Amino acid sequence: MNDFKAEPDSLRRAMLDAVERVFDSGWYVLGNEVVNFENNWASTCGAEFAVGTANGMDALEISLRALGIGEGDEVVTTSMTAFATVLSILRTGATPVLADIDLSTGLLCMESAARCISRKTKAIVLVHLYGQVRAMGAWLAFCESNGVHLVEDCAQAHLAKSEGRMAGSFGIMAAFSFYPTKNLGAVGDAGLITTSSKELADKAKQLRNYGQSIRYHHPVVGLNSRLDEIQAAILSVRLGTLSEYTIRRRTIANYYDEQLTNQFVSKMSAPDEPSAHVYHLYILQTDFRQQLQDHLLSHGIQTFIHYPIPIHHQKPCLTCRRDPEGLTNSERHAETCISIPCHPQLSSDDLHYIAETINSFQAE
Ligand SMILES: *Cc1c(COP(=O)(O)O)cnc(C)c1O
Repeated sequence: MNDFKAEPDSLRRAMLDAVERVFDSGWYVLGNEVVNFENNWASTCGAEFAVGTANGMDALEISLRALGIGEGDEVVTTSMTAFATVLSILRTGATPVLADIDLSTGLLCMESAARCISRKTKAIVLVHLYGQVRAMGAWLAFCESNGVHLVEDCAQAHLAKSEGRMAGSFGIMAAFSFYPTKNLGAVGDAGLITTSSKELADKAKQLRNYGQSIRYHHPVVGLNSRLDEIQAAILSVRLGTLSEYTIRRRTIANYYDEQLTNQFVSKMSAPDEPSAHVYHLYILQTDFRQQLQDHLLSHGIQTFIHYPIPIHHQKPCLTCRRDPEGLTNSERHAETCISIPCHPQLSSDDLHYIAETINSFQAE
């Protein structure tokens, strides 16, 4: 599903040089490398400010806490996401309220989210699942008319662009993950918040660093969620390949869209415009998932399930409030989705082989 060791030698060299630069600087946490990367990422996304964090989950928690969200508040999000999305809400002390998805995209369903809104709702965490940004105008209007903040979970959506705007520039706050397998990945954990509010950026900077305002003064209860110089330096190098790698992911997805014809397998719906999907993952749906996985594995092709268990079936969320009409689409998607290889190191031979192997699958 990923093949970092197949990355070009020149990229590896450049990363090692960047690490050496950090060693030479003698400064390892929250220094110039972090500031440089923050500035580059903010301008890449079309946001005013960026705040590096230790990981994507913290970026979400800090975003919510900077907005003043905590105990007694509710945050609406999707039941089909990485557990970290919901864990970040739980960690603020707020209550997650789980809404259903649209089956054709896997994304949060607006009608379901509307049924989840209450007087206590402070924010919607909109997850750009699999790398798709959709209907942002409608979501902005929805949040505004309901008087709730829009917080974007961009962990899978680096460079996804809809109607000329990048993921990370729509919400009042947006959280990115640079976990190694994400479209832009560090060689360890890293995350970041984008926002165009100076006040919120300053609050986030305070929260990530023990709630410190000026040195040794701690007016709020913060956390330790700082970004390392080495990770920032590596991210700056990898940012140089991100556009090219994103185009490659799109090419791979287009190939699958055109070539996969197996009657036992269905594809997700295409994005509204090509730039609005960066294919962090390429998903198929099938009622014969285990058989298909076995078939592919027996031909040497790895697959994963994103995600096999919807959030409302996870133990800490069994009693979470949810759409009163149920979360049946999330449940159905969890049972039928399968992620096939979609990463920039796949060769055209790999793609032919994967498509042929999927097309030759016969369900029993
Ligand atoms: C990866 C991911 C996160 C968490 O990011 P970490 O850096 O692993 O903490 C949050 N949300 C989504 C949708 C993710 O895919």
